[in-house]
Amino acid sequence: MVSRIYGSYDHDELLKRIEHCVCRQCGGKLTTSLVIYDIYGGAGEDLYCPHCQKTEFGVEKTVYELAEYFVENFQFNYFYDMEENNTNFQLNIAKVADMMSWFLKNIDLLDENGLKNNLPDYTYYLHKRRKD
Ligand SMILES: [Zn+2]
Repeated sequence: MVSRIYGSYDHDELLKRIEHCVCRQCGGKLTTSLVIYDIYGGAGEDLYCPHCQKTEFGVEKTVYELAEYFVENFQFNYFYDMEENNTNFQLNIAKVADMMSWFLKNIDLLDENGLKNNLPDYTYYLHKRRKD
């Protein structure tokens, strides 16, 4: 798995990502947007949330829904010094969605094509655990 920075995805990759990802904060649909990085002409294309009006790489729609459920039902609040309002709720969903995505990627259940339907082969990890 190669991790890349913002702006390093081509147009077709971004369009593919729009199909299965939503905004981490509001859960809304993403669009592509031309981004000017510096005054010397550095520009690229990124994903953008028109509702939140910000560049947004997005998260799997299913992961967003799970994160929303988690924040609501487990009273998760990472931003405890912030007023509890809709923005706080949305930022918490984004935080949990990031954690869930990180976890799913690291157990090989999520890649650039989205969530996987079949369990990966964990034989290597199980074998390693028995040896330790
Ligand atoms: Zn948004």
